[in-house]
Amino acid sequence: MDIRFWNQEIETLAQKDLRQLQLTRLRELIGYAMKTPFYHKRLKKAGISSPEDIQDLEDLQKIPFTVKDDLRQAFPKGLLAVDMEQVVRIHSSSGTTGIPTVIYYTAKDLDRWTDLLARGIVATGAGPADVFQNMMSYGLFTGGLGLHYGAERVGLTVIPVGGGNTQRQLQLMRDFKTSVLHITPSYLLHIHQRMPEFRISPADLNLKKAWMGAEPHSENTRLKLQELYGIDIYNSYGLSEMNGPGVAFECAYKKDLHVWEDGYIIEIIDPATGKVLPEGQEGEVVFTNLIRHAMPLLRYRTRDLAFLHPEPCPCGRTGRRMSRITGRTDDMMIINGVNVFPSQIEEILMSIPEVGNNYQIHLTRKEGLDRLAVKVEIYSKLFTGDLSQLDALKAKINDKLRASITINSRIELHEPGALPAFEGKAKRVVDERDKL
Ligand code: AMP
Ligand code: ZN
Repeated sequence: MDIRFWNQEIETLAQKDLRQLQLTRLRELIGYAMKTPFYHKRLKKAGISSPEDIQDLEDLQKIPFTVKDDLRQAFPKGLLAVDMEQVVRIHSSSGTTGIPTVIYYTAKDLDRWTDLLARGIVATGAGPADVFQNMMSYGLFTGGLGLHYGAERVGLTVIPVGGGNTQRQLQLMRDFKTSVLHITPSYLLHIHQRMPEFRISPADLNLKKAWMGAEPHSENTRLKLQELYGIDIYNSYGLSEMNGPGVAFECAYKKDLHVWEDGYIIEIIDPATGKVLPEGQEGEVVFTNLIRHAMPLLRYRTRDLAFLHPEPCPCGRTGRRMSRITGRTDDMMIINGVNVFPSQIEEILMSIPEVGNNYQIHLTRKEGLDRLAVKVEIYSKLFTGDLSQLDALKAKINDKLRASITINSRIELHEPGALPAFEGKAKRVVDERDKL
């Protein structure tokens, strides 16, 4: 096994020293948090008014959780801890829910974040000899720029193409002998299915590895894709609230993801009680971001479910490993990389007068891409036999939905009573995207 490090000292720091470093950084972070209107109020209420109130890491539990809605309430500057002059970049979550959330970074914050990405890149065995095609979207989403700067720091040759346009992607891979991809599992699957159309097969390419993330996927999906392409695939996890990708990355052993614990404090909690669970038990992942000062986030509830491996990894890294994401505590769907809540769809449907009370959201996967169908009941009187009118209604519903969730859906119109009715809790989402 070829084990390489970007920063061996910090990546293999003894757990005891890692905890000490976390404590130092946490106390520094409290100082920044106190400068924000949001935490100033919230921490005071919890009896914390200065870094001295945190004596050891156990004291973390005195700090209340932060949730996504807090970010919305604090929009735009309630969580900003520095002057705007010090802010050099903003990002946002790929979520499309009405009120936006914003993440601020200073130059130092970006520098520290980039370093974590460099570690992940090197941990997978990539280096300056690699040609890296970054197929995650650039822009407000953190996936594009995050890995971009990490890869430049390590010295890879970066092709900053972003997502979409399969033909061009394949052409670039061939022309520049791309060896590493950063991509979502759904797009990697899709590309494979379209290769025959462009008369290209994986054997014509120089691909060696892919960093795959932004969406949940199973071990079977990884194995299948590795086989289809003949490459090594590494799981990469992150979220914009914790800077973006690079929170946790798989090493050469591909046995779940090392969390960079000098950058983040990870806790696994029981989502119902908020109690911290022992290592090995599955629960909601909570992170404290120790390396971003422009916008501190303490004990942020991700709503992602996972567990921590108690035993160390043979690679020598001491950052504990987090399992792949096994689910969510909420009903958020990730459709081709875009976060969508069923409530957003409901809100739009219910604003359209022709739409009745019942609807169903149907997810399938075709040619590797997620397809969204929305089945709605409409009033019987609308079924007049005039097909063009029904088509116009479908187009209207799709347009309104697309304006909110940014993706296209196939609309099906049904007579009242045609869709399953619910007496108890409605089950409106039918997810048939098989895991392959
Ligand atoms: P965003 O803030 O838009 O980057 O979305 C972050 C969310 O994407 C996370 O909270 C996860 O739900 C999901 N996500 C990111 N990376 C992965 C991954 N490797 N496996 C599963 N889910 C992921
Ligand atoms: Zn390892």
